[in-house]
Order: sequence, then C-alpha cells, then structure tokens
Amino acid sequence: MLYIEKGEKAKLPSQYRQTNNLCAIIYDQLTEILVQEYYEELEKTTVLLDDKSINLIKELESGNVHALDWLAKNKLDKELTVVLTKHIMLSVLSDFVDFIYESLNCAKKGKFSVAYALLRKPLTDELLIFEQILYDKEDFIRRFYHEGSSINYDPSNPKIDKKTIIKNAFTVLSPKWFFTEELIYQLRYDKSCDSGINGISNLALHIVTQDRNYKTNDQDLNFVFSRSEENYKNFFSHYYYFVPYLLIYAVTIIDQIIFDLLPGSELEGVKPVKAFKRFIALLLWTEQTKTHTKKNNNKLIEKIKEILQFECHNCNHVNLLKRPDYELFFETDLILCEKCGENILISFESIKPIIDFLKHIK
Ligand SMILES: [Zn+2]
Repeated sequence: MLYIEKGEKAKLPSQYRQTNNLCAIIYDQLTEILVQEYYEELEKTTVLLDDKSINLIKELESGNVHALDWLAKNKLDKELTVVLTKHIMLSVLSDFVDFIYESLNCAKKGKFSVAYALLRKPLTDELLIFEQILYDKEDFIRRFYHEGSSINYDPSNPKIDKKTIIKNAFTVLSPKWFFTEELIYQLRYDKSCDSGINGISNLALHIVTQDRNYKTNDQDLNFVFSRSEENYKNFFSHYYYFVPYLLIYAVTIIDQIIFDLLPGSELEGVKPVKAFKRFIALLLWTEQTKTHTKKNNNKLIEKIKEILQFECHNCNHVNLLKRPDYELFFETDLILCEKCGENILISFESIKPIIDFLKHIK
C-alpha cells in the first residue's frame, strides 16, 4: 500500500505524508483502468464488416493470419488504429504503473537512489509515447505498425524532437490547468534543471558521471555516500516537488486517450469526476510545495463557488463547496450535504456542476 493511514508508522517525514497520499490517490486513477469492469471495452473492439470483408472472415477464423494484418489487408485502417492503440495503451500503462508504484514506494522508505532510477522509463520514455498517441494516434500507429522500424518510434532516440512532441500534446490537452509545456519539458529533459528528473536520475543510475551538468565530484561516488540527514531532507523535498506534478500531468494525458477510446464514457460521469479530483490534487500540491499559498487557493475556491453549486436530492438544500468539501471529496469521492449529511453525488445529474466547472477552466 502506498497510502499512509493516520497513525501508521512510516519512515517518511510527516510533512511529506500528505503528498505521498496525494500521489497514491492519483496513482489509483491509473490502476482502475487496468482492473475495473468499466474499462473492459479497452480489451475489445467491434468491427462492422461490409459484404466484401465478410467473405474474408473465413481467412481470419482459420487462424492463418494475425488479426492486425487481416485488418490492414482489408484496408480497415481506422479499426486497426483503434485496436492497436488500445493494445499499446493497456500494455505500456501496465508497465508504467509498475515502475511508478515501486518508485513511490522506495521514496516513501527513503531509498532514493532506486526511487529516482525507476522514474526515467515511465516519466521520460513512456509518457512521451502517450503524448504522441494523444496528439495523433494515426501517425503513431503508422510509424509503429505500418512502417514498423523501431527507430521511428523510439522515445529515447536523441534525434526525436521532444519539445515539439510536448508542444503538440498541449494543443489538444484539456484541461491544461497549471501545466505549462516549458515546465513539463524542463522537469523531464533539461539536464541543467535542478528540480527535474534528468540529472538526478543519471546520478542514481550511474556510480560516476562525467556530464558537465551532473559531474561526479573528485574523490566521490554518486549517491552512495549521501546518507546524511541533510541529504535526505533534500531528496524528500526534491522528489515530492516534481513527481506529483508529472504524475498528475501523465494521468491527465492517459485519461484523455482512454476516454476517447471509450465512446459515451463522459455521460457516465467517471471522466469528469476523475478530472475534478486531479484539479484538487493540483491545488493541494501547490500548497504542499509552497508554489501557492493556502490564502490564494482559498480565493480561487471562493471564486468558483458560484459554478460549483450542488442541490441535495434529499433535502433540496443548495450546497456551495468549501475547502473541507474539496478535501473530503479528494479522499473519499463523497460530497456531503451540509444540511442533512447525505452524499450529493449519486447520479450523472448530480455531477453536472463538476462538468460545467471543467468546461469553464479548459
Ligand atoms: Zn441534504
């Protein structure tokens, strides 16, 4: 378990427990995609066949041809893109969550060399694949399947223009909230960015480094002598600054792709409720990292009160959301009526204020 319960003993200093729990809750938004029945349409695709392709179905059933090749052969490119995007998303996502889980778990225990080393693959390489799929899945599938040469989709290829990939993803990312493409790039790829992943994960992965941005000091070795209390303090504050931000961003990208592949899902309310939770996560993160003050965020909460008005189905009382409501919702998915104590979020109708709010802050 990543989440630290009240009163539970943990090595993590108390000031980072909230941030750890924030990450645990956002991490769960990914694992639910892999385990909950709601997402099972990701594992299958219905293909409508015309007369011509129906004749060819015998060939598919014979098992002599791979389903993807069969789709390509029959010029069912749109269907092929959907089938393969679903398959890639679920497969890469499974790997992504495994790495993120172990990294968060190691950080929680203060094993920073491993925690940092494990971040590289999900947050630099795999996230870059998600960003490309979000922007243009046809183009990604063309390079991945139709052309097929791995150099054309290798996220670690030094020739690949990562800045443009992130920039492109931002043109379709919605909502963008506090994310900026410059910061997302710097935190992942900028060797000179002290707050980011690049330098520190290189130090974690290599015992000695010569790159001028993170060169090992003479008569030193990377990480292994960094056992002082001061060093740990720095690691905790560094890790819990940029990891939640990139994690919330990654889940926003992944959810957008996933829900595009699940037509009609918005009507079920899962997508907006998850997005609203991430908005609260960002608010809390800005406070925990002192990027915003509580006072400023309270002003923002006050401002959006007018949009977020929830009428209770039980007593008809109109509830305006206050800070404790945000915090309770983030932890429990509940918004309780201040008059009768009933949970307000019981139907698609009841989450409409959240949908309106999300439209406002695109
Ligand atoms: Zn009520």
